[in-house]
Amino acid sequence: MKLMEYQGKELFRRVGIPTPRGVFAHTPAEVQDFITKNPGSWVVKSQVMMGGRGKAGGIKFAHSAPEGAAFATELIGKVLKNEQNPDGEEVRSLLVEEMVQIESEAYASITIDRATKKPVVIVSSQGGMDVEEVAEHHPEAISKYWIDPAIGFQPFEARQLAFAAKLPAGYLKAFPKVLGGLYTLFMEYGANLVEINPLVLTKSGDVIASDAKVELDDNGLYKHPELNAWRNDGPADEDQAAAVEIGLGMSNYAKLDGDIGVIANGAGLGMGTMDAIRIAGGQAANFLDIGGGAQAELVKKSYNLVTADPKVKAMFINIFGGITRGDQVALGIVEALEGDDLRKVPLVVRLTGTNEKEGREILAAAGMNPVETMDEGARQAVAFAKSS
Ligand code: GDP
Ligand code: MN
Repeated sequence: MKLMEYQGKELFRRVGIPTPRGVFAHTPAEVQDFITKNPGSWVVKSQVMMGGRGKAGGIKFAHSAPEGAAFATELIGKVLKNEQNPDGEEVRSLLVEEMVQIESEAYASITIDRATKKPVVIVSSQGGMDVEEVAEHHPEAISKYWIDPAIGFQPFEARQLAFAAKLPAGYLKAFPKVLGGLYTLFMEYGANLVEINPLVLTKSGDVIASDAKVELDDNGLYKHPELNAWRNDGPADEDQAAAVEIGLGMSNYAKLDGDIGVIANGAGLGMGTMDAIRIAGGQAANFLDIGGGAQAELVKKSYNLVTADPKVKAMFINIFGGITRGDQVALGIVEALEGDDLRKVPLVVRLTGTNEKEGREILAAAGMNPVETMDEGARQAVAFAKSS
């Protein structure tokens, strides 16, 4: 899971890395309100997953409340693009932060070195720039240190790194705390990457993380269940937002070009279903992975989401029962899809798992065209779409 800047900075604060004071905002009114109450100069920063926001026009400097509100109006809804992200990413939220006077910009990160499988700390005196570029053109400005996790990271190693990368002396005192915090974050939260670019030395002598890039390993998230709320924050596009809206993960739904709506549980089964439809001569209108179970409420919401697409002429629900019995799943689907508040399109259902035969009987009684195999279901759905 990639975090946005404001989320990364929340974790920075938990491990004692200094960040500018500020506020997270969704509307121009919030920005206006905040600056009115806290007069001064503020940086209005677009919250998106992509990097290079500065060059993409996503970072603005406001010196008054109306100016802050005007920037917010300009940024929210804007699609930021740059070379690495030609498709762009829409801005949905902002971080408003105290503007600092920059004396110097440095770079610090920890990631896993693929070759040695050890965490590697990378420090550079050329902050605010793409580190790959610095590595290519100014290798002398970069120093690296491989951490032995059995021993951990010591303050003197942080100082040595600062010297080796020729950081200005102003960084030295704070540097062990910043790198120590980064290492704690990296280990404690199971990160794949923690990066501060730039790590700013201010004219008044403070060292502050001006930007934050954090990528957490999804497998480590169970240790910090509170972060799961962030998983659903800031979907990058409409499909993702729609998935999140009904309680699915961001990548569980995507619209496609065809006319057959697909609901399956599990990404693999979803892919298989789309393939079967293609082989049967049709095309899926979407990919929707409903996840582990198939609770009535979620089936209904998923059905509504998929059929909200006017292109959809037929539906194919393909559920693998797993531990849940087929008759239970069938009852859930019938319960979810009865009532007059749904857009009715021809529906084909395939169930597998224990008691699938009983499940088919329940579906047949409700007029839901149960089929035994995926291929049969795909052919049936394609026929329905063509004839409607
Ligand atoms: P990125 O472009 O997505 O990496 O966004 P950053 O948060 O790194 O901001 C880009 C650049 O904006 C930084 O490298 C700084 O040069 C500048 N910047 C950000 N915050 C401040 C600030 O408080 N004061 C000043 N003077 N410049 C800032
Ligand atoms: Mn940056």
